[in-house]
Amino acid sequence: MSYESLADGGFATGTMLGSGGFIVFDERACIVRNLWNFTRFYHHESCGQCSPCREGTGWMEKVLHRIEHGHGHLEDIDLLVDVAKKIEGITICPLGDAAAWPVASAIRHFREEFEYHVKYPEKVKDPKHFHHEPFVSEKKPVLA
Ligand code: SF4
Repeated sequence: MSYESLADGGFATGTMLGSGGFIVFDERACIVRNLWNFTRFYHHESCGQCSPCREGTGWMEKVLHRIEHGHGHLEDIDLLVDVAKKIEGITICPLGDAAAWPVASAIRHFREEFEYHVKYPEKVKDPKHFHHEPFVSEKKPVLA
């Protein structure tokens, strides 16, 4: 697939490029807090037509709220992955996928931060926790 092959708008190939975006965070940003914020948005925007999106976005928002505010359990991390999997690919419109993918991706790449929130509930009760003490991953960087 190349840009040229899709330049006619995808009518010949029957596909399109779609769109994407990225956000850059430094080590003072809290992945859990930002993810909770994304999930709040998707829960608010869900029209409620399909139950995986209607219910799942709300569950993810609630679970992320409790982890971010120091009331989470380690099982909540896998619960989030499970809920995201139950939304992905089965909703009427792409909002369900858009809500599920950031959750699955954040846990895949930043699981340590979620675990930190469960292990140190007193520290994360301060909304600016990583401003005072930036998170340091113990994972070795993966070189491409
Ligand atoms: S996936 Fe789309 S259609 Fe289904 S409830 Fe969410 S916003 Fe509505």
